[in-house]
Amino acid sequence: MLARRTGYFVESVIRDMTRLSLKHNAINLAQGFPDFPAPLTLKQAAAAAIMGDYNQYSITWGAKDLRDEISQKAREYNHIEADPESEITMTCGSTEAMMASMLALINEGDEAIIFEPFYENYGPDAAVSGAVPRFVPLNDDNSIDEDALESAFNRKTRVIILNTPNNPCGKVFTKGELKMIADLCVDNDVIAVTDEIYEYILYDNRKHISIASLDDMKDRTITISGFSKTYSVTGWRIGYALAEKNLTSAIRKVHDFLTVGAPAPLQHACVTALRYPGSYYKELASMYDEKRKFLHSALIKAGFKCNMPEGAYYILADIPEGVNMDDMEFAKHMVSEIGVAAVPGSSFYKSEAGKHKLRFTFSKKDETLMEAAERLEKLRI
Ligand code: PLP
Repeated sequence: MLARRTGYFVESVIRDMTRLSLKHNAINLAQGFPDFPAPLTLKQAAAAAIMGDYNQYSITWGAKDLRDEISQKAREYNHIEADPESEITMTCGSTEAMMASMLALINEGDEAIIFEPFYENYGPDAAVSGAVPRFVPLNDDNSIDEDALESAFNRKTRVIILNTPNNPCGKVFTKGELKMIADLCVDNDVIAVTDEIYEYILYDNRKHISIASLDDMKDRTITISGFSKTYSVTGWRIGYALAEKNLTSAIRKVHDFLTVGAPAPLQHACVTALRYPGSYYKELASMYDEKRKFLHSALIKAGFKCNMPEGAYYILADIPEGVNMDDMEFAKHMVSEIGVAAVPGSSFYKSEAGKHKLRFTFSKKDETLMEAAERLEKLRI
């Protein structure tokens, strides 16, 4: 006697692979969390906040000092004006921001356009909120199939979910692509819900562009981000949504009754994070750039085919030729026989395309990646 909606999705395969990895003592390149410490001053700020008695509920939509800092960051980095009093909601990770946004926007049967490959949460986000997902596959080179996108928009379309930089394929949407999406949103009266959690992890001098900063998009975009990836604190569960005030008021209502609020002392500590100098973000991106190149070359040596990601910290790789296993079988084989955990590609695709792929993260210490590379060599024998 369970709700039908729970039948439309399975438990996270990514987190499942983490459990399997622990069981086999494998190197976990499945789940995208750093195995290195968070910045010391951030940990100190969190400890100080707890000792300083920031231990009770904060304002449900977020601590004022943090919203003020985010408003400034949004203006300077994203070129979005967001009033801290009425247009910013702090949430339990960007995961909650996405779910609360969908619950705030979707009526049963509304359609949500989702690019494929997609972050695995978007399917369940659609199912729980009652949206019918409409998947639009990216081309093989990760460019947008404009005709397919245009024909996905119809009277029932309520939202388009974007993710730039993208997990799993590392695509960074260009200004031209975002303009094209923006025009379709305006013409069809659709809201863009954009997950920008990897907004500081870009390579080869690429620039992050928020669709909300484009003409006519500020009032029809929900911009989601958080602290997990930029500050290596995935366990803190601090994220946020920026949106025009009517949208924000609906998001805040949902958020209030889902979680009451994000962790108060950690919100307080996040103010410290937002005051880091520009060099912090440069170093973060260049650290991941080195790791990206290292893992890419290890995967190529082991027989995988893969492109260099443009942003985020994942590589989506084609299973080596000659392997007669699908993604799920091969991922299990890799964990138990090779000792490296990756995520089966089908977690990111509705179509069959994912069955020939695995996703690896490089958000790990150099030693971890080196050990993984050594183990991957076994695949060549
Ligand atoms: N969005 C994307 C695209 C992700 O890859 C992840 C985590 O891997 C999340 C959201 C989750 O972010 P948070 O920790 O802020 O909930």
